[in-house]
Amino acid sequence: MVDQPLAPHRRPWTRRALLAAGAGAATAFAGVPRARASTAATTRVGDAEVTVLTDGHLIQPMAFILPDRPEAEIAALLTPHGLPIDAVQPDCNLTLLRIDGRVVLFDAGSGPLFQNTVGKLPASLAAIGVDPAEVTDICFTHAHPDHLWGVLDDFDEPVFPHARCWMNRTEWDFWRAPGTLDATPEARKTFVVGAQNRLERIEDKIALFDAGNEPLPGIEAVASTGHTPGHTSFLIHRGGEGLLVVGDAITNAVISFERPDWHTGSDQDPSKGADTRRRLLDRLAAERTRIVGFHLPYPGIGTVERVGGHYRFAPTV
Ligand SMILES: [Zn+2]
Repeated sequence: MVDQPLAPHRRPWTRRALLAAGAGAATAFAGVPRARASTAATTRVGDAEVTVLTDGHLIQPMAFILPDRPEAEIAALLTPHGLPIDAVQPDCNLTLLRIDGRVVLFDAGSGPLFQNTVGKLPASLAAIGVDPAEVTDICFTHAHPDHLWGVLDDFDEPVFPHARCWMNRTEWDFWRAPGTLDATPEARKTFVVGAQNRLERIEDKIALFDAGNEPLPGIEAVASTGHTPGHTSFLIHRGGEGLLVVGDAITNAVISFERPDWHTGSDQDPSKGADTRRRLLDRLAAERTRIVGFHLPYPGIGTVERVGGHYRFAPTV
């Protein structure tokens, strides 16, 4: 389970390939964390305070992210940005909201058993003086390892003992269904077993909601399916301001914005994922709503700008 690559990859993803991709990738592959901002980023939505904390970063082979794209097309898009084409190293940004006496976390991070470059959320919370026992609510965007597995520590004990765990009903039903494991490709069965173990362990803390509901006052559940069957983004609205916690509906600051229609292997339903991404980007650009992107460059707070036929991420923090 430890260090499991996120997916099958057609092109071999070897240490040699990573070395070819650049020293940064090779260093991260060896398990040495890259330099990261150590201070937490904060912003406000009305009178509510939002802090973005790092859980570290993942390493994903490009053959998983864009399995059907010719290498030349990938290079034409990424090379001008100075980005490698063999792998991506997305940050993992956890959003913490203080509102009306509650301490709300959006997703729980990877925990100690996924990749060795993630699992830093407890240290990030400690750095801002937040005890995990103070977290009153966790709103899950979906049940992938880097969002869910951090609910348990390496003794399988809940990390956030007093938190109610909010999850979209469709997402819960999908991962909990008896047939899901058999229907899942071999390379992703770890995701299912890992989700089922953790959801069973925290079942008494789970509260289900449907898309369009407000699981908590001032937090609207926005359907953004495709990445997973019940994937949900959360619109924090307060005092006439809004901030959308997008989860994995928009993941890469270049690929998702400049080529939103490209199918990605990280989406369980790539066609639906692309439709959702385009619809979200359209809306965000028109409404100029700020977002927090779980996998955008830390802290992942910014706006969406329309540029010709595509989009651009404009960081604001
Ligand atoms: Zn995901």
